[in-house]
Amino acid sequence: MNQFVLPTAELLHSRGEAQNAIHERAAQVTRSRFGHTVFVRAVVEISNFCRENCLYCGMRRNNRALKRYRAKHEQIADLLIHHRPESVTDVNIQAGEDPVAVREVALPLIRTLHQHTDLGISVCLGILDHALYAQLKEAGATLYIMKFEMANPVHYAELQAPGTFEKRIAHIHHLAATGWNLSSGFIAGLPGQTDDELIKNFSLAADLPLDGISVSPFIPGDETPLSSAPLSDVNLTLNCMAALRLMRPDRVIPSISALNLADPGNGYRRGLRTGANLVTINLTPSELRGDYLLYKRDRFIMTEERILTAIAAEGLIPSSQSLADFYRAKKVNGKHVDQRQAGAVMKPEAP
Ligand code: SF4
Repeated sequence: MNQFVLPTAELLHSRGEAQNAIHERAAQVTRSRFGHTVFVRAVVEISNFCRENCLYCGMRRNNRALKRYRAKHEQIADLLIHHRPESVTDVNIQAGEDPVAVREVALPLIRTLHQHTDLGISVCLGILDHALYAQLKEAGATLYIMKFEMANPVHYAELQAPGTFEKRIAHIHHLAATGWNLSSGFIAGLPGQTDDELIKNFSLAADLPLDGISVSPFIPGDETPLSSAPLSDVNLTLNCMAALRLMRPDRVIPSISALNLADPGNGYRRGLRTGANLVTINLTPSELRGDYLLYKRDRFIMTEERILTAIAAEGLIPSSQSLADFYRAKKVNGKHVDQRQAGAVMKPEAP
């Protein structure tokens, strides 16, 4: 049993004035904790090979129609060293679960970036051998993003989410125990997801040793067995984001591009109004990103211009401090300061 205030189903399904009030409260908590700045990172999607077979993802190994690629690390390094937008302080290196790309692309890329830039480096590369995690850290990455996807192990197995639920959670604990900063997250609105299951995601998220947390709307992905399932309501995702912010004011929460797929043109900015304090500019080379099929072939690419316009429209400014430096500053004597231990958790009113 954790000590945090978990959301009720009523809060997660709220609309109208009640919903506005929750979102405003979440935005206020974010501003009092992080000010008006938002972290700006870039993402580069270095490989769409994946050995996993999640039913909700177009990059699953059984999708034989997908043209697979691995980026050239020299090309991505050149792009990030010489052509990245000025506002970018961090880069997230992302791929399907592809250990070959980790060894042949991610590791040399991280070493080069570490040597030639002061970018904070995060990775989202799936479940790997412990030795590979250590090599990534040694090369200069500091933040691992490993979403737990859903807190119900039965549903996790039914949807063939990566590995097993138990293994995923064990790897999250391993990463935290070996000095990584860590972000995780879950999917809202999955087919068959009950309210109890949705709320269990909050309970698990509160208890895991995380620095950041995200929630993604379920998007019925092209070329997946769930392609004809209903798109989840963006309001559910936004309410989850607000509830996460109220539950753990100290964590970094991204506004993710899928919000714009769930609510075209509005979702992303609504995320920034609902407690998010991290944005992501997609710098994957244009000839590759069409095949990074997490959701739809017709992707909504968050360019620098779109990101900076969205931030400015919400009265926010890019952070000059990198996410990596922010997390580093949260550590005392090399140990992560858990806000629960520090007694600094803001207790929201019971929703
Ligand atoms: S969600 Fe991740 S692990 Fe699952 S198939 Fe897609 S890329 Fe692979």
